[in-house]
Amino acid sequence: MLLRESDGPGKSRQERLNPGPDIVAKVIEHERCEACGFDGGRLDDAALLEAIRELAPQWRALISSAGDELRVRPDEGVWSALEYAAHSRDITALHVAGVELALTGEEPTLPPFADDAVDAAAVGYAELDPGEVVDALEDAANRLAGAAETAGPDTWTRGLTIGEARNDVRRMLEHSLHDSVHHLDDVERGLDTLRGSPGEN
Ligand SMILES: [Zn+2]
Repeated sequence: MLLRESDGPGKSRQERLNPGPDIVAKVIEHERCEACGFDGGRLDDAALLEAIRELAPQWRALISSAGDELRVRPDEGVWSALEYAAHSRDITALHVAGVELALTGEEPTLPPFADDAVDAAAVGYAELDPGEVVDALEDAANRLAGAAETAGPDTWTRGLTIGEARNDVRRMLEHSLHDSVHHLDDVERGLDTLRGSPGEN
């Protein structure tokens, strides 16, 4: 959750962890999403890391199955499969930076990101090479899981504050995973839409 999500439905800003005193910061609040059914509370530490490492193979399979629909937006305001993959690559890489900051700093704080940061980053996604996108996503996901694994779950309560919102390492891992899983669903649905109405486009 290093960026505001203008592209994912069903997420309430009120659900974001924003504790004040230290004691509150120890409360574990998991990432949940009604839209895709994600529940970070169902994943133990090992399963969370394993799921992050499984992201790239899932993206690779989905992207290679997209065929002619790879760069086609299924609907107005919905990204193509390639654009979602590139977004997921960037979100994962952003969380690598966030987790590394939280693990190495003393409760670091950063100014809030610009509201249009997601859209600004998305410029040019449609022209990217899909193989390079998935390779970079894989690299970022492995780095994310590796950094968290090396530091160990005992350190996952360490946090990073961006703007007003503090998130600990565990929550950043959950959020990064959720963002990607959520968009895997979006891509599958988009490809179904494109293939379900071949005569209408
Ligand atoms: Zn979701």
